[in-house]
Amino acid sequence: SVPAAILSALSAAARGGVLFKGGAALETLAAVDTFAFDKTGTLTTGRAAVTQVVALDGDEDRFLSLLGGLEAHSEHHIAAAIRREVATRDLNIANVVDVNARPGVGIEGFDALGPVWAGNSYLVEEMGARIDRPELQKIAGNAQTVIYLGRGATVLGAVSVADETRPSSAAALAALRDSGVRRIVMMTGDRKPVALRIGAELGLKPEEIHAGMLPHDKVREVGELAATGKVAFVGDGVNDAAALARADVGIAMGAAGSDVALQAADVALLSEDMERLAQAHRLARRTASIIR
Ligand code: ADP
Ligand code: MG
Repeated sequence: SVPAAILSALSAAARGGVLFKGGAALETLAAVDTFAFDKTGTLTTGRAAVTQVVALDGDEDRFLSLLGGLEAHSEHHIAAAIRREVATRDLNIANVVDVNARPGVGIEGFDALGPVWAGNSYLVEEMGARIDRPELQKIAGNAQTVIYLGRGATVLGAVSVADETRPSSAAALAALRDSGVRRIVMMTGDRKPVALRIGAELGLKPEEIHAGMLPHDKVREVGELAATGKVAFVGDGVNDAAALARADVGIAMGAAGSDVALQAADVALLSEDMERLAQAHRLARRTASIIR
């Protein structure tokens, strides 16, 4: 049977918005000395906004209508930012069908003219497209997330999206360090300049910031961390599901996170307040010291 101390810790955590799927997860969390965090939607709010639009043919509205048609089918934070921009400009979206999410790189589908896609430089490369136009170089020059829209091997343009750290993230990381967490690492599918900017705001060491990571890269990195300690992975997206499952403790953002992430995780963080996570870690440690 589950010790009373664990039951009472589980319910105290739940009152703080941290739901453990069982007592074992609480006991494992007590031993965690390494935290790996996803960036977008985890350390950042995910409530991003479109900051720049580059339509190479000059027709921003038609460009956004097509991009919006693709992103209408995505649950990614980036998709929501683009849909808000489309709504602000009062545009109709293009009809895009047979849409496929490509976790970690973007999204693909078909409009009336054929296949279309939107995503990062990995997807650009996969499509055999090029981003050497000066307008495209320029939009990639600021430390923001860039999404390219293309048709086959042709890039039609790009948008940049700015996301902000959660107000509670820096304090949460500091609290984790205070309670003896040895390593704190960030792993993101986003590009390096964005990762370094967000990481610097949170006081992370540059060598603990991993950018351009595909879902399987996150899994591999979590595995490497697990060779030297007990690892918790904190994430929100479909792209994080495998890393959440691989970690000793998988912690999913519950409020705005994806269902796939929640299913793969051992713990759901229902609060937007990251400090609740540090508090749960401390509670797990205290509880473990009582029952030992
Ligand atoms: P993170 O690891 O920071 O949460 P993701 O792995 O979810 O980020 O995404 C990595 C990158 O893939 C994004 O920065 C973006 O460039 C691209 N991407 C992912 N999903 C989409 C989408 N629906 N539309 C456009 N680009 C996307
Ligand atoms: Mg994410």
